[in-house]
Amino acid sequence: MSIEEVQPRIYRIPSVLGRRRFAQWLVVGDERLLLVDSGVDGTIAEHVSPALAELGRSPAEITDVVISHADVDHYGGNSELRRVAPQARIRSSAADRAWIESWPEISRDRYGWYRSHGLDYDEATWEWLENAAGPDTPIDGTVSDGEQLDLGGIAVEVVALPGHSPGHLGVVHRESGTAIVMDGVLERGLYTTDDELISPPPYASVPAYRATIARLRELRPARLGTSHYAPTEGAQAVTAFLDGSESFVADLDATIGGELGAEPQPLAHYWRAADAALGPFVEMAVELARSVGAHLDNAVDEGRAVRTQDARGLAVWAAA
Ligand SMILES: [Zn+2]
Repeated sequence: MSIEEVQPRIYRIPSVLGRRRFAQWLVVGDERLLLVDSGVDGTIAEHVSPALAELGRSPAEITDVVISHADVDHYGGNSELRRVAPQARIRSSAADRAWIESWPEISRDRYGWYRSHGLDYDEATWEWLENAAGPDTPIDGTVSDGEQLDLGGIAVEVVALPGHSPGHLGVVHRESGTAIVMDGVLERGLYTTDDELISPPPYASVPAYRATIARLRELRPARLGTSHYAPTEGAQAVTAFLDGSESFVADLDATIGGELGAEPQPLAHYWRAADAALGPFVEMAVELARSVGAHLDNAVDEGRAVRTQDARGLAVWAAA
C-alpha cells in the first residue's frame, strides 16, 4: 500500500494490522519531519521506511515523533526507530510515558487491569501484545497540550485528547482543518477492512472521553486522521464519526443504568450485559470491560451507584 497525501505536506501511511485498518501519519516540513506513532514492532521497516522512500526521503530524516498514547500498536516501533532515525526526538504525554517505556508497567497496569476484576486476555493475545510492544525503549521527553511544532513551511499544534488513555494526544493543522486524532475517538468500535464491527471502543474515563468528543466538535475539523479507520473526509463525515462516538457512550451508559439493581454485581456481569446489548464483539472483547468499569465508576461519582467488595474481594456495584 502506498503513502497517501491527504493535504499538502500531510500524509497517511496505511497498512493492515490483523483484520483492521492501521495507519501512522507524517507531516513534512522544510526543516523537520514529524511522525505520529511508530506502530507495532516491525511497522517502521515494513511500512514507514518504504513510505518515506516513495517520497524520496529516508527515515534518518525524521526529527520529531509524537506517540499518541500508550498502546502497543502506537509505540511498539520505537526501538526500530532508534536504529533507523537516531536523531529523532521521540515524545509522548507525561501521563502515558511510563507505560510506553516499560512492558512490566503497561502489562501490569493497563493490559493487566482486567485481572483485578477476574477478567483477562487469552494467552495468545498476551503473546501478541508483548511481541507488538517491541523491546523497552526509553523516550526523549514529553509534549503537552498547546505546544506548537514549527516544522518549516508548516506548523502543527499538539492537543490533549484524553479518555481512551489518560494522556492521549493528537496533532492539529488548523489551516487545513486536519485533526490527527489517532485513537482519541473510536466511534462505535473497531471494524475489519470489510467494515464488520469486531472490537469495542475502550476508554478509562467517561468525563474525559466525553470532553474529548466535545473538544473535537468545537475544533470543527474538515477531516479526522485516525489509526484504524478509513479517512474521515469533510465536515459531515467528521460530525457522523463524533456522533457515533457520543452515541456509543450514551448507549453504554443507558445499558449500565438499566443493569444496576439492588443486587451488587461484579464487572463481569455488567460487561456481559453490555456485550449483548452493543456487540457482540468478537475480537479484544474484554476491552469493553474497561469502558464498562469507567461507566460504573462514573455512576458512583454521580450518586447513581455504590461500589463495595464481595466476599472474594472483587469490586461489585449496585444501584444507589
Ligand atoms: Zn489505542
